[in-house]
Amino acid sequence: SEKGKIGIVGSGLIGQSWAMLFASVGYTVTIYDILPEALEKSKTTIGTQLKELEKKKLLRGPLNAEQQIGKISTTTSLKDLKDSIYIQECVPERVNLKKDVFEKLDKIVGPKTILASSTSTLLPSTFTEELKNRKNCIVAHPVNPPYYVPLVEIVPAPWTDPKIAATTKELMLEIGQSPVLLSREHPGFALNRIQYAIFVECWSLIKRGILSVEDVDKVMSQGLGMRYAFLGPMETAHLNAEGMEAYYHHYRESMWNTIQQFDPAEKFEGPTADDIVKQLTEKIPLDKLADKRRWRDNCLTQLSILKNKL
Ligand code: NAD
Repeated sequence: SEKGKIGIVGSGLIGQSWAMLFASVGYTVTIYDILPEALEKSKTTIGTQLKELEKKKLLRGPLNAEQQIGKISTTTSLKDLKDSIYIQECVPERVNLKKDVFEKLDKIVGPKTILASSTSTLLPSTFTEELKNRKNCIVAHPVNPPYYVPLVEIVPAPWTDPKIAATTKELMLEIGQSPVLLSREHPGFALNRIQYAIFVECWSLIKRGILSVEDVDKVMSQGLGMRYAFLGPMETAHLNAEGMEAYYHHYRESMWNTIQQFDPAEKFEGPTADDIVKQLTEKIPLDKLADKRRWRDNCLTQLSILKNKL
């Protein structure tokens, strides 16, 4: 059967990724942007990426690159998105801009269109409260680069219809992503809360002079991260003893003793901040960041190939 239309608002890094993901399973995608030159650039980038992925046999979905490219068009008229079943907003991370874009979308769509935001940090209640279609608004937060990192955090506002959350989750599964649905909005959602908790403890180890920046990162990349690509901390614990009950029994005392000595979180500024900047820029000068990002994306590509094989 014919699939519905998908609208993308904002043709930057994240908008392009969403367009590729939806097109990969055969959705007709229309990308809107205020800048015609941004749309031109996004078309070229998407085309190049899809052909490159096809050459490397990494293209997702049943369609070939040419067919996927054919599913994606661009527009500078927001009205062209009005018949979409689902619109994914991907404009820069400013609450007033999100408010403005959602107000405009609210005016053109019917009562069935899902309005989703890619926001990494803004609670959906802060930019959807006044809308007539607010029960259809939700956050679907991807992780960069979404083509290889499948998690999507789905975050409802207090007024989001649970059916909208469920449909969004199904849609994410259909395009091959791995959604988690939060029961309610919560600052930092889940991913950033966990990421920040790790950051706080890494900061403390560096500040106390226990490890260098490089070695703190090594604890993750050569240690915890090796298994976190496959198992979360809860399953890790379950496997590290004869089940979770046994894990608590063996480790809760020593965990408690250690946790009680954690430094309270502080703002990331002052001499420790400067020291971390210095160590990182010595290891990776700013003009080498682009190279290192390419290396990272290749690592993630290879990892996702491995994970799909296992
Ligand atoms: P970006 O700067 O690459 O792209 C933003 C695009 O929006 C640009 O093409 C710009 O022309 C367009 N735009 C600006 N105002 C607009 C408007 N009023 N209407 C339509 N288009 C408009 O940004 P990005 O990195 O793609 O991020 C977009 C969103 O995704 C942000 O909310 C960000 O927090 C979130 N996000 C980003 C990442 C990431 O790693 N980059 C990861 C997850 C979520």
